[in-house]
Amino acid sequence: MEKKVIRMCAVCREHKDRSELIKIVRESSGKISVEKDKRTNGRSVYLCYSPECLNKAIKSNLISRTLGAADENIYEEIKLAQNKREN
Ligand SMILES: [Zn+2]
Repeated sequence: MEKKVIRMCAVCREHKDRSELIKIVRESSGKISVEKDKRTNGRSVYLCYSPECLNKAIKSNLISRTLGAADENIYEEIKLAQNKREN
């Protein structure tokens, strides 16, 4: 049986299944990126796949506030992850 993993979106604070959220991690090197393999350890935040939550995250500079200074590219990376899912 598959175990349900529930995580919270850092923007709207809704609890959702792990598969419904994008995980952004801060790697030990300090690089902040969208998690690609499940073994990445370190601090992380979850975001909905909704454009509203992404826009709010950009406006409030959520990633930098929670994980530390992030590249502007991180938001592009999140957008790409969203588009991939929608297609
Ligand atoms: Zn959300």
